[in-house]
Amino acid sequence: MFQKVLIANRGEIALRIQRACRELGIPTVAVHSTADSEAMHVRLADESVCIGPPAARDSYLNIPAILSAAAITGADAIHPGYGFLSENARFAEMVEAHGLTFIGPSPAHIRMMGDKIAAKEAMAGLGVPLVPGSDGEVADLATARAVADRIGYPVLVKAAAGGGGRGMKVALTASELDDAFRMARAEAAAAFGNDSVYLEKYLDRPRHIEFQVMADSHGAVVHFGERDCSLQRRHQKLLEEAGSPALSPGARDRMGETVTAALAKLGYRNAGTLEFLYQDGQFAFIEMNTRLQVEHPITEMIAGVDLVREQIRIADGEALGYGQADIRLSGHAIECRINAEHSDSFLPSPGKVTAFHAPGGLGVRVDSALYAGYVVPPYYDSLVAKLIVHAPTRADAIARLRRALDEFAVHGIETTIPLHRRIVDDPSFQRGDYTIHWLEHFVGDAST
Ligand code: ADP
Repeated sequence: MFQKVLIANRGEIALRIQRACRELGIPTVAVHSTADSEAMHVRLADESVCIGPPAARDSYLNIPAILSAAAITGADAIHPGYGFLSENARFAEMVEAHGLTFIGPSPAHIRMMGDKIAAKEAMAGLGVPLVPGSDGEVADLATARAVADRIGYPVLVKAAAGGGGRGMKVALTASELDDAFRMARAEAAAAFGNDSVYLEKYLDRPRHIEFQVMADSHGAVVHFGERDCSLQRRHQKLLEEAGSPALSPGARDRMGETVTAALAKLGYRNAGTLEFLYQDGQFAFIEMNTRLQVEHPITEMIAGVDLVREQIRIADGEALGYGQADIRLSGHAIECRINAEHSDSFLPSPGKVTAFHAPGGLGVRVDSALYAGYVVPPYYDSLVAKLIVHAPTRADAIARLRRALDEFAVHGIETTIPLHRRIVDDPSFQRGDYTIHWLEHFVGDAST
């Protein structure tokens, strides 16, 4: 097993990874920017190294500084968490070139799935159903028009290098295509340094359903069922459920078999998530994330598995040691993302947390690096806590979520807790009757 793991991340996910390491008896190294010297992930680590100033490009994205921190502390593996360098194939290659283990997939698979056009081509070749769209990149407006006429409006122009819901523009009719195409390209160039775009049919009422997979380096691949992440604002997830209220056990098993067979053929290794849109009983692949997801805890709750521990074991060369038939999913789990944002305007709300009380009790889990007196810095992602509940049925999980949200107190900053309280009280949510567009209408922000 590894002697020491460096965690190239911050906040709740850095703590989450530390916890798995500690239970495996592995010491951890935290890295941090100057803005994070008082952060909980630094306080709780065995060792810590400052890797630069506040701006992420100078610290959490600073590959030489992170590799130097690993060298000075004698770490022999790096866990990237999510975001930052987690899907940077070059980083994974450099980690390996320095004789360290990257806790994640191979650089080749990270690179393949990081290009959404290549990812769709690969999945189509492996028998995974896709959202109808262009065959690869759409280089000019004339081609975009021809593709849109073929697949029919509305269409979505998407960035090949896209992520975080950016570089995506809808054209409801032919008259909007020109602007959508130019804007998506400009946004993609600015955000990702790559203006390559492609076209997809814009589905009008899908759910976002994704499958969690885990593969070892000996050819074994399993899935842990699906998560329904349809509650999104600006293509960013806010509340997730496992399993999906819309999926039958038969449909889950069939899609699960398709994704595990595809990844086995690909020779994929470590954790991954295949994201689909699901409408009228049909799955259509949109992208694959080659890392741990923010919403992984809901899967952990229903599967009774520590996914980070599995990632570490697999990276160390261990076999999974169980097969699909050994995985039992039980009960229902829901996660609320608590962001440091105003719950009506969604404007960021960094600042000092004056009081903090996390809910508890049976079936309640809070993943957070907050504490009273902590100052939420303005430089990073606004996610400050994840509230996760687990109960035997969906109705029980909703009741538990309601009472946990009522117990949750974060003072000094604004958070999305009030919005989550409104969502759980809504009859459509309670019926499980929603699509990816539901939340934007609910918050009165139906812009795409
Ligand atoms: P990103 O990598 O930026 O998160 P995704 O391709 O995963 O982008 O899409 C994010 C979200 O955008 C999806 O969960 C869905 O809500 C919406 N979306 C993506 N593709 C389509 C589509 N073809 N039709 C309708 N909505 C879509």
